[in-house]
Amino acid sequence: MTGNQGQPAEPCGRVLVVDDEKNIRDGCERILSRMGCQVDKAQNGVQALEILERTPAALVLLDLKMPGMDGMDVLERIREKRPGTLVVIITGYATVETAIEAMKRGAYDFIPKPFEPDRLRIVAGRALEKQRLREQSRRLEEQRRRTLADLGTEKSRMRAVVEALPSGVMVTNADNRVVLVNPAFCRMMNLAEDTAPGGHMDEYVDDQDLRRMVADIMGRAPTPEQAAYCELVSCELQRPGGRYLLARGRPVPGEDGSCLGVAVLLTDITGLKLLDKLKSEFVAQVSHELRSPLATIHQQISTALQDLVGAPPEDQHMLARAREKTRGLISLIGDLLDVSRIEAGAVDPKARDVDPKALLTSVTDFLRDKAAAKNQTLTLTTEDPLPTLHADPLALESIFGNLITNAITYTQEEGQIHVCAKPENSGLTVSVIDNGFGIEPQYHEKIFEKFFRVKNDKTRHIPGTGLGLPIVKGMLQTMGGSITLASEPEKGSTFTVHLPGCKEG
Ligand code: ADP
Repeated sequence: MTGNQGQPAEPCGRVLVVDDEKNIRDGCERILSRMGCQVDKAQNGVQALEILERTPAALVLLDLKMPGMDGMDVLERIREKRPGTLVVIITGYATVETAIEAMKRGAYDFIPKPFEPDRLRIVAGRALEKQRLREQSRRLEEQRRRTLADLGTEKSRMRAVVEALPSGVMVTNADNRVVLVNPAFCRMMNLAEDTAPGGHMDEYVDDQDLRRMVADIMGRAPTPEQAAYCELVSCELQRPGGRYLLARGRPVPGEDGSCLGVAVLLTDITGLKLLDKLKSEFVAQVSHELRSPLATIHQQISTALQDLVGAPPEDQHMLARAREKTRGLISLIGDLLDVSRIEAGAVDPKARDVDPKALLTSVTDFLRDKAAAKNQTLTLTTEDPLPTLHADPLALESIFGNLITNAITYTQEEGQIHVCAKPENSGLTVSVIDNGFGIEPQYHEKIFEKFFRVKNDKTRHIPGTGLGLPIVKGMLQTMGGSITLASEPEKGSTFTVHLPGCKEG
C-alpha cells in the first residue's frame, strides 16, 4: 500500500513548479499558495533536480517541453531518486500518446495547457491528498512495527528477569499443568535447571504440602469481587539436606475474576531458620539461668512479707508489689521456656486417650472462681457424645486454660464466658466465647505472634506477656490441630480450637 516504504517522508504540502514560462510558474504559485502549499519554482530541468536534491517536494508540476533537459528525462530522474514524489505533467503539446508515455514512466496525472485554475486545484488537491494518506499509513505502519518490536523486547526482558530471579517461580494453569518454571525453582526442587514447562505439576513437585497448597488455591477460585484482593497462601517445606523453603502462592485471576491458574514463589529460608533456632536456644538458656535465682528471690520476699505482719502498711505494700513483679517475671520465663521447647520441636507429648468432656469440665471448674471474682458467668455445654482425643492432657489443659483465662481477663465485670464443645468430622471443635472487649480486625493475626499485645484504653493496664496465644497455636500445631478467631470490638471474641480425633485402631 505504501509505495514509499522505507523512504524518508515527502513534506505533504510542498510543491515544485517546473516550467520555462514565467507566467505559468507565477500563476501556479498563486493558486497553490492559496491552497496552503509551500511552492518552489524552477525554470528548467537541471534547476528542478537541484532544488529537489535540497528540498524534497510532495508534488512536482512538470512541463514536458523545456529548453535543455527534456521533461520526460526529468520525470525519469525524479522517479529514480525520489519515488515517493508525485509528478503531474503540464504541457501545451498534449497528445494522447505523450500522456500515455508520461503515465507509463510513472507520472501521476496529466494537465493540458492552457488550464483553468480549478483544474489545477482539483488535480493538485487529489495528488496532495494521496500524499497525505500515504504519509498517514506510513506512520501507522511504523508505529505498528515499533509496538511489535517493543512487545518482543518486553517479552524477552521479562523472561530474562524471571530466569535470573534468585527465588523459584512456577505458574500452573487450570489443568494443573506447569506453564512457567524458572531455573531457581528447578534447583530448589532438585530438577535439571533447564527443565521445560508443559508437564503436569506432579512431575515437577514431589512435596505433598506444596501440591496440596496449589490444589487448595485452585479450589477456592476467587469470585470477581475477590479478584482484586487475592489472599496469599503459604506453607513451609522441609527439603532433603536440612534445607527449608517457604512457598507462597496466589491465584492468577482472569479478567472475569475466574481462576486461570496458580503462581508460586519459593524462597530458601534455611538461614533464617538457623538464626531463629539460635535465638530460641539463647532465650531458653537465659531463661533457664534466670529462673532459679528469681524463684529464690520470690520465696524470700514471701517469707519477709510474713515476718512483716504488724509492720506499717506502706512497708507491706512495697514488698507485696515486689512479690507481684517477681511472680510476673517467673511466669514470663515459664512462657519463654514453653515457646523455646515448642519451636525446637522438643515437646514430648505424653499422648494418651483423653475424654474431652471431663477435661473441659475440670478446667472450667478450676477457673470458675477467677470468673466469679469479676462477677462473670462461666458456663460449659457439650454436644454429646464427643469423640475421644489422643493427646497430651497437660497440653490440652494449658490450651483451654489459656483461652478461658484470656476470656476472663479481657472481658468486663459481669460479662459472660461460654465454652462450647461439639464433634466435627472425626474430631472436635471447642469454642471459647466471651462478650468482652473484642479485638479489632487488624490484630486478628498479630495476636498469635510472640509478644504482641493489643494496647488500648481497656487493656493497657492489664499485665501479660503476649506469649499465651503463640504457645496455644504452637501446641495445637504439634497436635495436628488449629485455632481460628472471630471477634468484634465492644461485642466480644470467639476463639475456636479444631482438634483431630483418635485414629481408628
Ligand atoms: P497476654 O494475654 O499475656 O497479653 P496472649 O498471647 O494470651 O498474651 O494474648 C495476646 C493479646 O491478645 C492480649 O494482649 C489481648 O490484647 C488479646 N486477647 C487475647 N484474648 C482475648 C480475648 N478473649 N478478648 C480480647 N482480647 C484478647
